[in-house]
Amino acid sequence: MIITEISKLQTLCEEVSSIEEGEEIGAQLLKELTETKSGIGLAANQVGINKRVCVINVKEPIVLINPKIIETSEETFVFPEGCLSFPNKHIRTTRFVEVTVEADNHEGQLSFSAESEDINDAFECACIQHEIDHLDGITMFDREIQKPEPFKREGKKIGRNDKVLIASGTESKTIKYKKALPLLEDGWTLVEA
Ligand SMILES: [Zn+2]
Repeated sequence: MIITEISKLQTLCEEVSSIEEGEEIGAQLLKELTETKSGIGLAANQVGINKRVCVINVKEPIVLINPKIIETSEETFVFPEGCLSFPNKHIRTTRFVEVTVEADNHEGQLSFSAESEDINDAFECACIQHEIDHLDGITMFDREIQKPEPFKREGKKIGRNDKVLIASGTESKTIKYKKALPLLEDGWTLVEA
């Protein structure tokens, strides 16, 4: 059973004391993940085990025991994200383009990068950040991209041919103000002029 109450997912997980204990939990998580059919990652606290073990399965199954993100890029990217604990929620998050991870059951470091021709690399890179977040009691909602603040005109007059940035939901575009006017009446927001 996958836990869906957010309050139960907001606790910090404890390190496992041995690789064996971690591998047992990892095997259980991979089994649960396979049963979901559509899932690409699962953290132990999502099945009620508050231990630092998570699994991802984008390109291949990876078990991570006591994982830590030890380095991240400054650059971030926007990712359309879901979570097995919140099956009907789809949000946009901000994730690091590159992360370096260490885990007790992997020698050396594991590197994940979203900068790749293969879209699966971006999924894997976001997924690993999502799962390690779970172990820290952080859910995807804590990473949700902030909606742009509506632009305040402060007396500035916008010319009909001035370019403006407008946004609606997940879309944004820069167009001439005169072309933006009907859209602004249609629910778009003026972000920048
Ligand atoms: Zn999740």
